[in-house]
Amino acid sequence: MAAAADGGTDSKAQNGKANGRLKGHHSGPEFEFFGPYLGPLAIMLGLPLVCYGLVYACNSSGCMHLAPKFSIPGFPPAHRLFTWQALGVYVAWFVAQALLHLLLPGQRRQGVALPDGSRLTYKLNGLRNMVVSMAAVLYFGFYRRSLDLGWVYDNYLPLITASIIFSAALSAYVYAASFARGAVLAKGGNTGRPLYDFFIGRELNPRLGGFDIKEFCEVYPGLIGWVVIDLAMAHKQLTSGGGLSAGMVLVCAFQALYVLDALWFEPAILTTMDITSDGFGFMLAFGDLAWVPFTYSLQARVLVDHSQPLSVAAIAGIVALKALGYLVFRGSNSQKDQFRRDPAHPRVASLRTLPTERGTRLIISGWWGIARHINYTGDWLMGLAWCLPTGLQSPIPYFYAIYFLALLMHRDRRDDHACRAKYGRDWDKFCGIVKYRLFPLLY
Ligand code: NDP
Repeated sequence: MAAAADGGTDSKAQNGKANGRLKGHHSGPEFEFFGPYLGPLAIMLGLPLVCYGLVYACNSSGCMHLAPKFSIPGFPPAHRLFTWQALGVYVAWFVAQALLHLLLPGQRRQGVALPDGSRLTYKLNGLRNMVVSMAAVLYFGFYRRSLDLGWVYDNYLPLITASIIFSAALSAYVYAASFARGAVLAKGGNTGRPLYDFFIGRELNPRLGGFDIKEFCEVYPGLIGWVVIDLAMAHKQLTSGGGLSAGMVLVCAFQALYVLDALWFEPAILTTMDITSDGFGFMLAFGDLAWVPFTYSLQARVLVDHSQPLSVAAIAGIVALKALGYLVFRGSNSQKDQFRRDPAHPRVASLRTLPTERGTRLIISGWWGIARHINYTGDWLMGLAWCLPTGLQSPIPYFYAIYFLALLMHRDRRDDHACRAKYGRDWDKFCGIVKYRLFPLLY
């Protein structure tokens, strides 16, 4: 995720979390995120605090309530923020994912042309890493019960700290390594202001031999780790005596499906802004390695202690919402991808389009005739379906839906800005035809 601030997954595979870019300017650099100092500093301190804050606001001691009386539980007693054991487990997880990535077979794909005209080759095997990781977790954790998955729940806070320390250390390493001769630098992360460059990412594609650190972090340890954390929460619920709740099953299944979709479409990540233009710095490292696994697993964690009974009608409604979201999300993303790859393909050949002076055509019917970012709408509907199984006890489990709506609205504005720059008057014409941004008749 971009990661944090913009992070995620189209799944991550199609997302480009394109924040953190320096806009080209002749009279000096123009900084994003209220940079070069205050904004990056606030984000680097603030987002880790949000990770802790979500635990503070909802845990085994209770969940924050707004009404009838405001209440917030605070950290449960005797919880430590840091342990060497948690740091060791976190590093072991990262190394295990790296080894699987290196050892398992995978397809080789070329990325887009770099500023110097060269292209990098990527090894892609996220789906295989996921299958092997899931098989191990299910076999040792659920079947043999020799792996104490509940440990993850009991050590959630020190694991968050471990992920923050690890992302900061990795960002420091890639920042230092970016000064090596021959490193291709990201336009937006090469301003000469160390704090800002550390935050945005100075080097475009930091690598260790053929191992691409950015693509690996974007896809493997965080996304697969998120599903493992969900399963660990399910294990904790199961072994705490109450059995698995319907809500937990829904959340785990929905989020695993989301990650599987991202891994299935892993090659699409190579054309996202994250890979093609963003440097790899604290923003992406923290987003991928801390924010995604530890804030996206919020609903599963909440359900360990605050499971709510769900009626058959509620379950059916939530499943229908998730299915609708997925249909819109996958349908629209695949339609645009197909159209950009082969506009003559029978599945997209009959779409109505707007020719532009830039030479490319904009789709004005099908999914893309409904709203200008209908893919975001589908993504958000799925996110809402992840929150609903927690019931209406507290606003905290809805953090994802609220944060993600804000992120997508901001992202829509940024893409609108970029498209206006790309397409000029044609973009105005397009906006006149496709009037809504995300929600037909509403927004
Ligand atoms: P999009 O896939 O929406 O891509 C935007 C680009 O598509 C535009 O710049 C334009 O580029 C092209 N385009 C826009 N409108 C049209 C049209 N009508 N016809 C043809 N081409 C068009 O953006 P993102 O990369 O932001 O999102 C991809 C997915 O990632 C989304 O589903 C999103 O929800 C998801 N995502 C998930 C996150 C998470 O944390 N879970 C975070 C961020 C995104 P051009 O014309 O140059 O081709």
